[in-house]
Amino acid sequence: MSAGSEQLGFDLLDDAFAAPALHRVTPARLATWDSCPRRFRMLYLDRPAPARGGAWAHTTLGAVVHLALRALFDLPPRSRTPAAAAALVDRNWSDEGFRDAAQIAEYRERAREWLAAVATGPDGDDEPLALERRVVAPVGSLLVEGRVDRIDDRDGRAVIVDYKTGRGVPDDGRARDSQALALYAMATEHVLRRPCRRVELHHVPTGEVAAWEHDDASLRAHRERAEAQAADSAAAAAQLEAGGGPEALFPVRTGPQCGTCTVRRNCPAGRAAVEEPQPWALLAP
Ligand code: SF4
Repeated sequence: MSAGSEQLGFDLLDDAFAAPALHRVTPARLATWDSCPRRFRMLYLDRPAPARGGAWAHTTLGAVVHLALRALFDLPPRSRTPAAAAALVDRNWSDEGFRDAAQIAEYRERAREWLAAVATGPDGDDEPLALERRVVAPVGSLLVEGRVDRIDDRDGRAVIVDYKTGRGVPDDGRARDSQALALYAMATEHVLRRPCRRVELHHVPTGEVAAWEHDDASLRAHRERAEAQAADSAAAAAQLEAGGGPEALFPVRTGPQCGTCTVRRNCPAGRAAVEEPQPWALLAP
């Protein structure tokens, strides 16, 4: 793999797998390209990388809960008590992005309660197949790379579990439409060599689970869309490297995403389009 291809943000991998070469992608990179090509360029291509904004409380909370859940399911089932779950929140806690001490105390306590509810809930005794599993696998013309929150075993079939901690409670349509979950399902099927069609979004604050059972057609649609995004972003990056104009190749796409965009301080169009919310504004109510 050449240093130049690494700098493009997706690698053409032609040594570990048979020809034709595969585009190495992560679902996050594809989603960034889809939401705003300028943001894609700033995050993955521009060097030196532009300065990023400060911490967001909802991001901090999400990271804490993910770490605590991973540690919880690492424990033997008999040790997954509410007290142990709450202690794991404390062990992984961070104050970054919160408004003040009162808000920190409120959300820390909420996170303790969420984890305690998971420990005593229907999943509490499950033995996942994998936690925070890094998967790297060919999917069509792509080499999909990413980290899956949890992979469950249900009657010999793998199930992708993704944790959510934000304001919105996801519905089944969101699970169906998630490109990341579909790509992870296809990659996991390859890596674990067992069927993987079901994807689930677990909303930790409410305990709600949104789910979708993919079939060949829905997975093919996700794969083809991802392949088109990878091809388009690779073509734009190649033209940029050849001297093309960055603004035309990576156009601005303003929208709600500008509010929390990590590179908005370098993007006048995004700042003009959307006001920046307070760092704690997207916490679950
Ligand atoms: S602020 Fe908006 S328009 Fe600017 S890079 Fe970010 S997402 Fe794109």
